[in-house]
Amino acid sequence: MDFLPLFHKLQDRHVLVVGGGEIALRKSRLLSEAGARLRVVAPDIRAELIEMAKANQGEVLLRDYQPADLQGVVLVIAATDDEPLNAVISQQAQALFIPVNVVDAPKLCSVIFPAIVDRSPLIVAVTSGGDAPVLARLIRAKIETWIPATCGQLAGLAKRFRAQVKALFPDVQQRRVFWEDVFQGQVAESVFAGKQQEAQRLLEEKIAGIAPRMLGEVYLVGAGPGDPDLLTFRALRLMQQADVVLYDRLVAPAIIDLCRRDAERIYVGKQRADHALPQDQINQRLVTLALEGKRVLRLKGGDPFIFGRGGEEIEELAAHGIPFQVVPGITAASGCAAYAGIPLTHRDHAQSVRFVTGHLKDGSTNLPWTELTSSSQTIVFYMGLVGLPMICEQLIAHGRAATTPAALIQQGTTQNQRVITGTLADLAARVAEHEVRAPTLVIVGEVVQLREKLAWFEGAQARAT
Ligand code: SAH
Repeated sequence: MDFLPLFHKLQDRHVLVVGGGEIALRKSRLLSEAGARLRVVAPDIRAELIEMAKANQGEVLLRDYQPADLQGVVLVIAATDDEPLNAVISQQAQALFIPVNVVDAPKLCSVIFPAIVDRSPLIVAVTSGGDAPVLARLIRAKIETWIPATCGQLAGLAKRFRAQVKALFPDVQQRRVFWEDVFQGQVAESVFAGKQQEAQRLLEEKIAGIAPRMLGEVYLVGAGPGDPDLLTFRALRLMQQADVVLYDRLVAPAIIDLCRRDAERIYVGKQRADHALPQDQINQRLVTLALEGKRVLRLKGGDPFIFGRGGEEIEELAAHGIPFQVVPGITAASGCAAYAGIPLTHRDHAQSVRFVTGHLKDGSTNLPWTELTSSSQTIVFYMGLVGLPMICEQLIAHGRAATTPAALIQQGTTQNQRVITGTLADLAARVAEHEVRAPTLVIVGEVVQLREKLAWFEGAQARAT
C-alpha cells in the first residue's frame, strides 16, 4: 500500500494554497467545503477564489510565494504552473513535516486528493496513488450509482439514535445486528424513497420494541424496454435486495439476471390470450407474499403505469394496507423511438404524441379514430401487431393520409431490434413479408420519415450496445 487513506479534519484550520488559477480554485472549493480557512498566495488570483477565501475567514496575498507563508498551516497545496516553484514549495513544506499536495505531480506529494463520493457524513474516497486518475474516477462513478443519493440522510438518522441504541444494546454483536437490519430494511427503504418521517417512526418503533407488524413490501418496478442499460439506479438497487421476483414475458432474461442471485423467481407470464396467471391471481400473489413478510419485486416491462396494469396491482395492495413503491421505467415508445432514430415530437412535424393500445379489454379495437387523424400528431400503438392491417385501414378511412409514414419496431432496444418502415397504405403488407417476433410497437406520423435523415443513428446506437 503506497498511501494510507485518512480523512483530514480541516474545520477552522489554515491551509495554504499557492496559485490563483482554475486548478487552485477547484482545490480551494473542496477545502472550503471541508471548512478550511484558506491562505491563497499568487501575484494574480481569480475573483471567485478571492471571494471564496474571504467568505471563509481566509487570507488573500497578491504576491509571490514566500517560505514564511507555511507558518501555521496544516496542509499545503501547490497549484502554480511553475514546476520548479512547485518543487521548492513541496521540499520546504516537507522539511517542516507539513502535508503537501502538488497538483499533477504525484512524486512531489506527501498527500494526494482522492476521487470522492460525497454523501456526507458518509464519504467514499478512491485513489490510484496518482498512477491512473481516470480509472479512479471511473470507479468512483460506479460507486456513485450504487449509493442512493439520500444515503447521507440515513447516516444522519442513525446518528440521532446512536446513543439510545447503544444504551439499549450494550452488547456489540446485538447492536450490529440491529443496525444491519435498519440499514437494509424498511427504515432505509423509507429514507431512499424520500419518506423521512416514516423512516423515523419505523426506527422509533423498532427501538421502543414494538416490533412492526411482520409486513413485507412490494416494489412495482419498470424494467424498461429491454436493454439492461436503460434500468434506473433505483430499479437495480431494489432488484438486488428483493426476496422474491415476479416477472412477465416482456422482461428480458439479461435483466432478470441482475436480480439478487438467491431471490425466488416466479414467472407470471402474459402473452396475448395465454395468461400464465390471470391478473387477479397476480394481485393476490403479491398480497400473500408481502403478508409473509417478504420484499416482493414486481418487475414489469417498460413503465409500470403505461399499459402495465400497475394501477390495478397497487389498488389491491392499498386495500390490504401493504406498503409499496412504484419505480418508473423507460416505456417502449421512448426506448424504441430513441433506438430507431424517430423523434416522437418535432417542431416542424408533430406537436403532440399519443400512446394508444391496439388491443382493447373486450378484444375489439374500437379506438377513438376521429381523434387520431391530425397530421401533426404522432401515434404510438402498443400491442398493435395483430390488429395492424385494421389499424391502418381505419386511420385512412377516418381521414389520415394513406401516405403517412409508419414504422413497426420489433424487440426495440435489444440486439434483435428490427425496424420495418412504410406508409399507412403499405406497412401491413411489408410486415407480412417478414417473420416478425413480439414485442412490437407501431409508430405512425410524419416524424417516421426523419429516420432516414438520422440513419447514422441506429448504427451508432448498435455500436454503443
Ligand atoms: N408497460 C409497458 C407496456 C406493456 S404493454 C411499457 O411501458 O413499455 C406490452 C406492449 O408494449 C407490447 O405489446 C409492445 O407493443 C410494447 N413493447 C414493450 N416492449 C417493447 C419492445 N422492446 N419493443 C417493441 N415493443 C415493445
